[in-house]
Amino acid sequence: MRLLAFLIVILAPVFAFPRLGLHEGYTRLVFDLEAKAQYQVAQTPDTLTLRFSGISVGAADVDVSSPQVASYQVVPGSGGVTVFVRLRPNVEVKTSVLNDGNRRRLVVDVLEVARPTQNPPQASSRPEPPKPRTQPKIVVIDPGHGGVDPGAVGFVVEKEVTLDLALRLRQLLQKEGVEVVLTRSSDTHLSPDKATDLGLRADMAHSKRNLFISIHVNSAPNVAQGIETYYFGHTLEPSLLAQVIRENGGGELGRRLTREAQSVGERLVRDLIAQSNLKFSRQLAHLVQGAMLQATGAVDRGVRQAPFYVIRNARIPAILVEVGFANHPEEGRRLQTSEYRQALATAMSRAILRFLNNGE
Ligand SMILES: [Zn+2]
Repeated sequence: MRLLAFLIVILAPVFAFPRLGLHEGYTRLVFDLEAKAQYQVAQTPDTLTLRFSGISVGAADVDVSSPQVASYQVVPGSGGVTVFVRLRPNVEVKTSVLNDGNRRRLVVDVLEVARPTQNPPQASSRPEPPKPRTQPKIVVIDPGHGGVDPGAVGFVVEKEVTLDLALRLRQLLQKEGVEVVLTRSSDTHLSPDKATDLGLRADMAHSKRNLFISIHVNSAPNVAQGIETYYFGHTLEPSLLAQVIRENGGGELGRRLTREAQSVGERLVRDLIAQSNLKFSRQLAHLVQGAMLQATGAVDRGVRQAPFYVIRNARIPAILVEVGFANHPEEGRRLQTSEYRQALATAMSRAILRFLNNGE
């Protein structure tokens, strides 16, 4: 026994096998391999099995306790090693291989999927016809402000317009079979503390939903009008500073939350999933912006990036729309009318449906 223990110690790899990375929404396992090493991957609903030949590493049994992976076990055998990864429910496994000279890295990402899988297949003498995949898409609509926080005030009050638009948009999407979650459905705040309020809204953009849209009304000290659509970016154009601070809670708090949102950017640059999500957010932003302009003939203020707190950590395509200026004498009055609001909501719903139906 003493010899066996000794052998296990000297065979234990100097590097971790696998290297483990815990990220929001996914768990990453990286296997460093010699070029000659072979591997096979097999998966059942709760276990991912990886068989490696041509390598030797020590046994391990590691409790991961991430939302996607419960644990993994490394079992050395003759001529190789088998790794069992115990998966949590409702995850998807993606593997990729990176070649670097005579070394390779097998990267296994275990991601949360959008919806729980339906009933697991059951042993039955009668084969069942395959069930169509009709899981409804889930859209989160965030009517900006509410309750103690009116938002911009001019010819209209922002919190009233955003709620009305959100309710109209909900109805249009539901008609098309889309599930809708509203961050609020009445004139209320989620918390009197603005940082908590925005955090609660942002938390609803989690990976079990498909899309997040935050609706706002703009205002400016000088006369300005038009529609703009944002997706997250950590750099801030100086001309947008006042607006971003206002939407991030205003005053000293708004400045703090803007700085916090900006600091997220450094992490995003190194996060491949976040980068690919930003690409989808940009596509969604262009679709929604284009549809709103076409429906209203409003001034095009463009698709832009800014550090809005409410979309800083979204794991799904997320945008923030500014549908017009509350204090512009013409646009503000247009925003008062039911026809104009319906035109905006219809345009948003068409663009969202187009985005969802393109498979994101
Ligand atoms: Zn706002």
